[in-house]
Amino acid sequence: MKITIAENAGFCYGVMRAIKMANDAIKEYKQIYSFGPIIHNPQVVEEYEKKGLKVLENIDEADAPILIRSHGVPPETYSKIRDKKIKYIDATCPFVKEAQDYARELYLAGYKVVIFGDKNHPEVKAHLGYADYKAYVVNSVEEARKIAGDKIGVISQTTQSIERFSMVVAELSKHTKELKVYNTICDATEKRQKSAMQLAKISDIMIVIGGKNSANTRKLYEICKQYCRRVYHIETEDEIDVKWFTDNDRIGITAGASTPSYMIDRVYNKIVGKYEI
Ligand code: SF4
Repeated sequence: MKITIAENAGFCYGVMRAIKMANDAIKEYKQIYSFGPIIHNPQVVEEYEKKGLKVLENIDEADAPILIRSHGVPPETYSKIRDKKIKYIDATCPFVKEAQDYARELYLAGYKVVIFGDKNHPEVKAHLGYADYKAYVVNSVEEARKIAGDKIGVISQTTQSIERFSMVVAELSKHTKELKVYNTICDATEKRQKSAMQLAKISDIMIVIGGKNSANTRKLYEICKQYCRRVYHIETEDEIDVKWFTDNDRIGITAGASTPSYMIDRVYNKIVGKYEI
């Protein structure tokens, strides 16, 4: 049996940065809030709740500094926080911020703004705000087919797949005279997806670690499914079932951008421990 961990797996730059900012803020203020869970990983959220970072759903309830998570927030959220005269720590990932700026720029320049992504994802909900909620969110070629206009401007949710984004862009190009495209897919996502694909191709079984509510982890799972028949999405080592493996399996491990390295180690050690490799 051989176990390989994907070359690019686990915490990305933006998540690592947000976690560091949360640690520093907890040290300084003892109690802080994050507007929504700090990352899409229930174990990390629970761990941070014990340290002093509470999840907040409504800004009006805040009575301590607020940490804006890596997914970002729409402009009116900043105004609300300022109106309440509460301190905030902005951990919006710089790559997400860049996509927000492009959405604003395209909107102000008169483009029909199209956001490729999941309309329920907090990052996309925030992007919409930068186009005054007049942008179109599409998640497939079929949805892109319904959009037409003289000037179309496109951005993507940072964690989407580049292949699907390219297909949507190609479709939109048929319905407009002018198409402006900002490829806002972050290379952490691309790198994780590419490494997962390469590993899935040469593995008998793939273990994908990350929150079940994490869009980028679910995407890694989908990619692995295309190249490997036995793929399992788990959040912790406790979900591993020994019956999944046979003696000669080549096992690949990958993890979403919100999965801490200690969780990858625990999963690896649990499999190694079981088989005494
Ligand atoms: S996946 Fe990329 S854009 Fe998203 S938080 Fe991580 S580094 Fe930032």
